[in-house]
Amino acid sequence: MPDLCVHCGMFATVFNKEDQPVCMRCREKNPKRYVCSKCKSLMTIRKGKYGSFWGCSGYPMCDNSVSIKQALMKERNKTNIK
Ligand SMILES: [Zn+2]
Ligand SMILES: [Zn+2]
Repeated sequence: MPDLCVHCGMFATVFNKEDQPVCMRCREKNPKRYVCSKCKSLMTIRKGKYGSFWGCSGYPMCDNSVSIKQALMKERNKTNIK
């Protein structure tokens, strides 16, 4: 299963300078920033056996994690409300 681009959700083929999976179109964009909804630490890309996902940098104190797809969906919902 290929990773999804953290910016647009397309299949990612490269990584940006912070090792986040991105597509060719988004590779020059600034690295994505998410704040943990539980502890307000920064989320970082981690690689699991099912591909990359966002994990809390407060791990193991905080085990919050969200898939790249989920993160993008939440982002979209937020913008729709505004
Ligand atoms: Zn992209
Ligand atoms: Zn956290």
